[in-house]
Amino acid sequence: MKYDIIVLGSGPGGYVTAIRASQLGFKTAIIEKESLGGICLNWGCIPTKALLKSAQVFDYLKHASDYGLTVSEFDKDFSAVIQRSRGVADGMSKGIQFLMKKNKIDVLEGTGKAKPGKKIDVTDQDGKTTEYSADHIIIATGARSRELPNLPQDGKKVIGYRQAMTLPEQPKSMIVVGSGAIGVEFAHFYNSMGTDVTIVEFMPNIVPVEDEDISKQMERSMKKAGVKIMTNSSVEKIDTSGNGVKATVKTAKGEEILEADILLSAVGIKSNIENIGLEEVGIATDRDKILVNAFYQTNVPGYYAIGDVVPGPALAHVASAEGITCVEKIAGLHVDAIDYGNIPGCTYATPEIASVGLTEKAAKEKGYELKIGKFPFSASGKASAAGTKDGFVKVIFDAKYGEWLGCHMIGAGVTDMIAEAVVARKLETTGHEIIKSIHPHPTMSEAIMEAAADAYGEVIHL
Ligand SMILES: Cc1cc2nc3c(=O)[nH]c(=O)nc-3n(C[C@H](O)[C@H](O)[C@H](O)COP(=O)(O)OP(=O)(O)OC[C@H]3O[C@@H](n4cnc5c(N)ncnc54)[C@H](O)[C@@H]3O)c2cc1C
Repeated sequence: MKYDIIVLGSGPGGYVTAIRASQLGFKTAIIEKESLGGICLNWGCIPTKALLKSAQVFDYLKHASDYGLTVSEFDKDFSAVIQRSRGVADGMSKGIQFLMKKNKIDVLEGTGKAKPGKKIDVTDQDGKTTEYSADHIIIATGARSRELPNLPQDGKKVIGYRQAMTLPEQPKSMIVVGSGAIGVEFAHFYNSMGTDVTIVEFMPNIVPVEDEDISKQMERSMKKAGVKIMTNSSVEKIDTSGNGVKATVKTAKGEEILEADILLSAVGIKSNIENIGLEEVGIATDRDKILVNAFYQTNVPGYYAIGDVVPGPALAHVASAEGITCVEKIAGLHVDAIDYGNIPGCTYATPEIASVGLTEKAAKEKGYELKIGKFPFSASGKASAAGTKDGFVKVIFDAKYGEWLGCHMIGAGVTDMIAEAVVARKLETTGHEIIKSIHPHPTMSEAIMEAAADAYGEVIHL
């Protein structure tokens, strides 16, 4: 019952940590109360992308004639779409089971609760509690859908993301509150499937963390696709006593009442920090997050935390990177702290959004003198051939040294293109080096080279 490392929670933070720990020779166990793979594989990244793929195929069928094709009959089967998504998630979770076995990691099924003295209790489904101990306990319990006091989720008419990907029937209408990646992805999915969707966003722009040009383009694209968008607006109260949901929305012009079958609350996440023994062990928290140093050590020696339970962007790849950094440090390897300024963020709606680094506004606020380049996909041969001309690449360089400060993209497939900017920025690549790096033709990625060239007055295809 004694391990070198015990990881609490098996999301992309926990299971990746456990694998890396095992690779480094640590005797490792992982505790999970639900399904291996956590939110990302079971209720987040993966099942949503499966839903979005169905929406994309459906959209292609709707626009088949644009490609010279006649598809005389097609329809959607909402429950089959949901089933496919669940099947994909189950398959991924089974894959993690395989990886745990392959890496000789003990999976302890049950609810874990840390105790002082580097011990942890695991209570299984039958209520039986077993005590384990480890030299290092890594907390990776993740997060859940955040509930606002005026938007209590009943799981039926007012729902969070879990219900949004398992609805028994397709709603005719839906209000999506919040337009971060999760809200926008669901809004796009349901709109494509034929639901009448209205987004209500408190901030002046949708996808508010993105560069303003990206947000504006996304708003245009989503409106063109039929999504109604209310920015600078907030849902003040809801009434679920009738058939659907009546939402009172405060807008700049006064109050408006929206009615829909379902309201999806996508206003962020709440960390799972309750009942995991933090108080008993004396682990410090601040505003819903466990406090850690640059190598994920809490204030109590031997206890660490990574992923959505710690401050920083709540993203799967961040959770994984934090876990790897944490165990490599425990192993005594020379390891650099994570550069939180070089983390890519993606939204997988149509068009997709991908970005890394500073927005134009943030770069200006930091006092940089900028060289900005932009290349629209309407001028890209690949985009024209593919029929995906919506969107652009925007690059931001520091005028003085050529440092690549930010890359912001919106368009088809850009989520697969952003890694170029991440690697280049990690290697401290300058704008001119990007221009001189030959990109394959025809690809969407040429737009990055062209945008960089635009920043320096050397663009060819504009
Ligand atoms: C709808 C949606 C879409 C998303 N899409 C993306 C995306 O496309 N890309 C991206 O990067 N991120 C995405 N995310 C975010 C991503 O899912 C999270 O950032 C990521 O899962 C965090 O990983 P984690 O390991 O910290 O925690 P989680 O994945 O939340 O895993 C925590 C695990 O701990 C378990 N656990 C909690 N408490 C206990 C306990 N006491 N005992 C035992 N087990 C416990 C939970 O059951 C869970 O399995 C999405 C999130 C949502 C909700």
